Amino acid sequence: HAKRNNSGVEVYDPAHHSRNAARLSLLTELRAAVERDELVLYYQPKFALRDGLGLHVEALVRWVHPLRGFIPPMDFIPFAEQTGYIKTITLWVMNSAIRQCALWQRAGLDIHVALNISARDLLQPELPVIFRRMLDEHGCAARLITLEITESAVLDDPRHALSNLERLRATGCMLSIDDYGTGYSSLSYVRQMPVQEMKIDRSFVMNLCSRPGDEIIVRSTIELAHDMGLMVTAEGVETEDVLQRLGQLGCDFAQGYLISKPVSASDLELWMSSSRWA
Ligand code: C2E
Ligand code: CA
Ligand code: CA
Ligand code: CA
Repeated sequence: HAKRNNSGVEVYDPAHHSRNAARLSLLTELRAAVERDELVLYYQPKFALRDGLGLHVEALVRWVHPLRGFIPPMDFIPFAEQTGYIKTITLWVMNSAIRQCALWQRAGLDIHVALNISARDLLQPELPVIFRRMLDEHGCAARLITLEITESAVLDDPRHALSNLERLRATGCMLSIDDYGTGYSSLSYVRQMPVQEMKIDRSFVMNLCSRPGDEIIVRSTIELAHDMGLMVTAEGVETEDVLQRLGQLGCDFAQGYLISKPVSASDLELWMSSSRWA
């Protein structure tokens, strides 16, 4: 916990010390959270803009801390990614989402469940085998599970990431490119990825009806994705106007607060029986 002063002499830095201490305690708490089962999955439904697509949801993790209450993923997922602890969280998320999907399947509900995979997960050579084993253990149909990945996940180490994606795809699950349009969109990589869906980032969707530039991006992304044989989901749909425009542009799915916020599994079941979107 030292830093150098102007003359190069090491001095104690209390700010640095407390920052490190805070990080260490967060990691300790995150470990405990998984052991104590404090993580929960919420599910955000997607609205199918065409008939016959079935019911699709995205699983999003939350941490229900005994003292601090509800902690959103942005407050601990990036940290978990930096420390490598994301691998443990991803296995928890995967297992929970697959178990829930199998429960719904046994109840006669064919609900497609998407879950998020981080860049670090994709570089784990054993992930496809673990994933396959989880599907078998819970008796879940692979076709009902979609893994969402960001493009940057592949850019870090394309060779290993792509070979792992191929092996994941071989289990029969679906693959989706998340947050499309942000970061280093490189079409040449997208073309090489064995994906079936593209999700347009909400930053382009939210102001679709008021910013002409955004509409051009969304329209051309939908066309491009369809040319490549991919389904398209628009994220961050908050208004009827945007939903309607997406329908005109030929988008396949809309996801956003207009349709539903992410909700618990039991609230999703209520949503299915009462929402005008279900
Ligand atoms: P994401 O994968 O892009 O997930 C979509 C985020 O947008 C979710 O935030 C969702 O609640 C939010 N959202 C959905 N509809 C709307 C809308 O209409 N308007 C606005 N403003 N926001 C909307 P959330 O649940 O806070 O998750 C944030 C991010 O945390 C996710 O972004 C994802 O990158 C990460 N994350 C969440 N769960 C997991 C997980 O299980 N594993 C990993 N690796 N990352 C996760
Ligand atoms: Ca996602
Ligand atoms: Ca996204
Ligand atoms: Ca995002």
